[in-house]
Amino acid sequence: MTREELVRRFGSPLYVYDLDRVTAAYRDLADWMPEGTTIYYALKANPHPDVARALRTAPGGGCHAEISSTGELAAALAAGFAGADCLYTGPGKTAGELAEALAAGVRLFSVESLTDLEHIGAAATAHGTVADCLLRVNSATASAATSIRMTGAPSQFGNDMEELPARVAAMREVRGTRIIGAHFFPLSNAADEDSLLGEFRHTVTVAAEVERVLGAPLELVDLGGGFAAPYGVPGTRPGYPSLRKGLEEALDRHLPRWREGTPRIACESGRYLVSDCGELHCTVVNVKESRGRTFVILDAGINAFGGMAGLGRLLPVQVKPAPDGDAPGRRAALAGPLCTPGDLLARDAELPDPAPGDLVTIPHAGAYGLTASLSLFLGRPAPTEVVIRGGEIVSVSRLRSQRVYDPPRNPDTWSE
Ligand SMILES: *Cc1c(COP(=O)(O)O)cnc(C)c1O
Repeated sequence: MTREELVRRFGSPLYVYDLDRVTAAYRDLADWMPEGTTIYYALKANPHPDVARALRTAPGGGCHAEISSTGELAAALAAGFAGADCLYTGPGKTAGELAEALAAGVRLFSVESLTDLEHIGAAATAHGTVADCLLRVNSATASAATSIRMTGAPSQFGNDMEELPARVAAMREVRGTRIIGAHFFPLSNAADEDSLLGEFRHTVTVAAEVERVLGAPLELVDLGGGFAAPYGVPGTRPGYPSLRKGLEEALDRHLPRWREGTPRIACESGRYLVSDCGELHCTVVNVKESRGRTFVILDAGINAFGGMAGLGRLLPVQVKPAPDGDAPGRRAALAGPLCTPGDLLARDAELPDPAPGDLVTIPHAGAYGLTASLSLFLGRPAPTEVVIRGGEIVSVSRLRSQRVYDPPRNPDTWSE
């Protein structure tokens, strides 16, 4: 089905996710990583239930779920994950959400500090169970150059490695918890295979150090991720053909019993798994000239895609060339419909002679698309989301947010 047919049928703006691409990305990632690696899908990237389900059921084992809120928990359960398939992470886990996660069967938590561990222990004890915990570690040193760094510096994430020896005795005492391993997530969107492998190698040495500090074998080491993918621009998902061998060498050296499953190895990914499954089709509403610049105004902006742009990270969106892409392009700012100058998807995109009614497609919109957008701002309806597989439509849906006066407006009758 062409994008024109899809938009005619389901309207614009329109997200289209292709599940065949989701399973292809999973298969590739499973190939790049050491044999037997558990892959956690970070639902943050795209919590659509059909997308998450495709990853859960992908041939070759499928993913587990990495979640960080009750909303993501609900999305994981809706995709058929059991609570036992979930790793619950995040620096601000409240008592309420911990209770909800435990009630849903979640038993594996990433721990950001001693107090976080105490909160988990209290919730688990109240639930009459013991939670398995991975100590998230903020390494004292870092190795690779990437766009987002979350380790080696002061951070709300992770336990500072240099403090661990002094804290470990207290951590072991926390009732309702069992420390079974370590969790790392030192970087996102690595620049290239060398920096990714460099970071993983470094992480493996730190994991071995954590094992020494704990004085007991680790059962599970989640090495994190950093697998890259294009975002809102043309391109291809990178390959990591040397990663498996390099990482296996590091594991053989520093965690020599990993092949027997002590520890089991896990990694995490959002963008690599789902970035290239999605496209956002939108429509040119208006083309206007202002003081020598062309503004192409679309029916979708940061309310539909990449709302983090509104927080100062301007996206270098490049649209797909038109099918008859020989015509000379015109350089234009791509603006959304919102009443804020922040609603720009690109300052300088090249479009083939844009006119109202034209379709514009933002490629690689499957990760951090709708879910990372400012969908409430300005109150426009969310784009429709169509899921396809093998060229056939799997589902059509639209997110809706509505204010529920329940219980009624009277503050005296409000209860949660
Ligand atoms: C955001 C996040 C991910 C996913 O990151 P990607 O760059 O999309 O792969 C995985 N794990 C944790 C802990 C995260 O915060």
